[in-house]
Amino acid sequence: MAELFEILGKEEIARGVFRMEVYAPEIARKHKPGQFVILRVHEKGERIPLTVVDADEGRGSITLVFQVVGKTTAMLSDMEVGERLADLAGPLGNPAHIDRYGTVVCVAGGVGVADVYPVAKALKKAGNTVISIVGARTKELLSLVEEMRAVSDRLEITTDDGSFGMKGFVTDMLRKMIEEEKLKIDLVFAVGPTVMMKAVADLTKKHNIKTIVSLNAIMLDGTGLCGVCRVIVGGKTKFACVDGPEFDAHQVDFDDLMKRQRMFVEQERIAYERYLKQKKGVMA
Ligand code: FAD
Ligand code: NAD
Repeated sequence: MAELFEILGKEEIARGVFRMEVYAPEIARKHKPGQFVILRVHEKGERIPLTVVDADEGRGSITLVFQVVGKTTAMLSDMEVGERLADLAGPLGNPAHIDRYGTVVCVAGGVGVADVYPVAKALKKAGNTVISIVGARTKELLSLVEEMRAVSDRLEITTDDGSFGMKGFVTDMLRKMIEEEKLKIDLVFAVGPTVMMKAVADLTKKHNIKTIVSLNAIMLDGTGLCGVCRVIVGGKTKFACVDGPEFDAHQVDFDDLMKRQRMFVEQERIAYERYLKQKKGVMA
């Protein structure tokens, strides 16, 4: 019998992108697409939010997919099967709003696919026509492509460098669908880097297509108490953790969000470099 928060599986599915299966039976039972957990690798570690990508109620496990971008995600990727996370809180955030919209275009930028996949799967199950666009900087960074194909009526892939699929950004493919193919789209759902979600919102606003994004604001407690994840939506202050993480893209102040995301860049850089140095010392 596994221990609570024990790592049951770990696999590098793309360059620097890991899929991890963690024993968390209550979360596996309760979670809905669009929700996330906040975890700590060890007791003095920082809390980071990660989307629940999938769950297996039978095994009592949840699946996380994360990209190594700094100290905590690097430490997480260095943990092995059989080790335990210090804690894991969830499911947090509002579930995605799943309805029968008609034709939905799901746009995944980079590791944003971790959030798009469970939502696309639920949209497909609800009877929508799901058209997906999955994009990454280069072929080696593409992840969950086969999973996305399985839940999509049509799947398009883009890479910035043209190493796989169409050369360009996900927004180039979306523009092609809207402006050249004249596709009738009832909803766009987009998750990825903030700059990409802003570009998607600018494009769909012009064409009056309802668009939902999931915001990756810096979060600490995930319960609406600390206020770190403040975002401006429709001119009002909202907390991404309890009011979101999904919002109407046409109402989001993306420039403010980008500014807030860069708040701790220097501290994050120092912490990551220290961790890598320490790791190198241990391995030498
Ligand atoms: P750091 O060096 O600390 O930070 C790198 C960058 O990550 C920062 O510049 C900042 O923009 C962001 N970040 C840092 N700390 C936090 C924090 N506490 N909360 C949010 N962002 C932070 N990433 C995935 O790879 N897979 C996912 O499924 C996923 N789901 C997310 C769901 C939500 C609701 C949110 C808000 C974020 C999600 N992220 C996901 C982003 C992930 O939380 C950050 O990449 C992670 O916190 C980085 O931590 P770090 O210490 O490795 O890097
Ligand atoms: P990235 O920088 O590699 O970009 C991925 C793709 O986004 C690019 O290939 C391109 O198609 C598109 N893109 C990038 N810049 C663009 C622009 N200016 N205009 C139009 N399209 C653009 O992405 P990454 O490093 O994989 O980062 C993924 C982001 O997703 C991270 O910020 C992460 O925090 C976030 N994320 C969020 C969730 C969530 O649930 N909210 C889940 C997982 C990841």
